[in-house]
Amino acid sequence: MFVGHYGPAFAAKIGKRPPSLGAAFLAVQAVDIGWAVLVMTGVEYGRIEPGFMRLSALRLDHMPWTHSLPAALIWSLAGMLVYRVFDPRGGWKAAALIGACVFSHWITDWLVHAPDLPLTFDGEKVGLGWWDSLPLGIGAEALVLFGGFAIYLGATKPLGAAGRIAPWALIALFVALYAYDKLGPKEAADTLKGAAPIALAAYLVIAALGFLLDRTRAPKSALQVGA
Ligand SMILES: [Zn+2]
Repeated sequence: MFVGHYGPAFAAKIGKRPPSLGAAFLAVQAVDIGWAVLVMTGVEYGRIEPGFMRLSALRLDHMPWTHSLPAALIWSLAGMLVYRVFDPRGGWKAAALIGACVFSHWITDWLVHAPDLPLTFDGEKVGLGWWDSLPLGIGAEALVLFGGFAIYLGATKPLGAAGRIAPWALIALFVALYAYDKLGPKEAADTLKGAAPIALAAYLVIAALGFLLDRTRAPKSALQVGA
């Protein structure tokens, strides 16, 4: 999954003192950020195989340190603790939401991936394979993204004109990125090692946009308390 991963990050903006949206954007892709780095260094590997699945050309042969179930749990726990240390404003509740964001990556990958997610570091691999179906693959991604976005819009209030426009600009960017990823030219990278830095850059730029968007809207419940 790609842009769908951001749905849970949007949904994490619930409550009075939710986590930072930029941090939540980093959290939902933490496992893939680690994956991109490990693919670049050759620790994890796979291939780009056009036609492998209807909606994905990624044949992911080996990724136990980022996409196995125990690894995802460890990454989630680490994400929660790191967030608690570096941004204690929201307390353990916000930190737990960040941990849940990190783990949501594995769940949403499990829906669409071919069976390439190990249940133990070196064990049986799972994945429902919805990327092989246009309605399931696109539907799942859209439902998770727009579901989370709807929760975000309901839980936050614009602080000015920018706060009214920016969320829609970002969601339009996500739709455009998704369309480009699925329909655009493929010559940008024909090896996974070549594609990993592009993915990494995209995750970091999107996280930066999350930090910017966060400055334009505030939690509704916090505003009501302050009023
Ligand atoms: Zn992933």
